Amino acid sequence: MTDMAQTELVFTRRYSMGHRLISGASERCAIPHGHNEYVTVTLGAGPNNPHQRLDGYANMLLPFAEAKGRWHRFIDDHVDHCLQLSEHDPLLRWFADNEPQRLKRIIVTPGDPTTEMLAALLLAKLSAFLHVQGDVLSPLMIEIKETPTNTVRLRGNPQHYLPTSEAPLTSHWWNRADNTINDLSTP
Ligand SMILES: [Zn+2]
Repeated sequence: MTDMAQTELVFTRRYSMGHRLISGASERCAIPHGHNEYVTVTLGAGPNNPHQRLDGYANMLLPFAEAKGRWHRFIDDHVDHCLQLSEHDPLLRWFADNEPQRLKRIIVTPGDPTTEMLAALLLAKLSAFLHVQGDVLSPLMIEIKETPTNTVRLRGNPQHYLPTSEAPLTSHWWNRADNTINDLSTP
């Protein structure tokens, strides 16, 4: 019988964002607008976690401070107050021509930046961070609360959820363990 105890670590961060959806969601959503959102991630023990039991001293099954700190710095410094645009959105061209210095503040998504899309991209980013931190922790779930009554929850491998691409995994910002939020080369 398997009766191993399992710990899950859950943490939440708030951020503000702007976006628009141009592929026919609704006229209302095609006008740039914003939301105050909460992102909650759930982590469990990863494949390289040797601990099975609290040690009676530090009593931290999972060294999550490092993972949490890395994630929250990314949300605070690179997601909060960003504009989220589809890679097909002509506003990208406008920024490139008029305010290229602000391109680094634009999250670029494959197709419209819906909450479902952001959940998958942020889960992939979190997975990349945890991988370079040694796979001691694994991401189990991400939730984005876009309004008080509307939450998107995603579990499992985000690569199976995202649109397919011919490009190598690491050519996408969401698969790299860095602070990039798009793959535009800023001048
Ligand atoms: Zn919206």
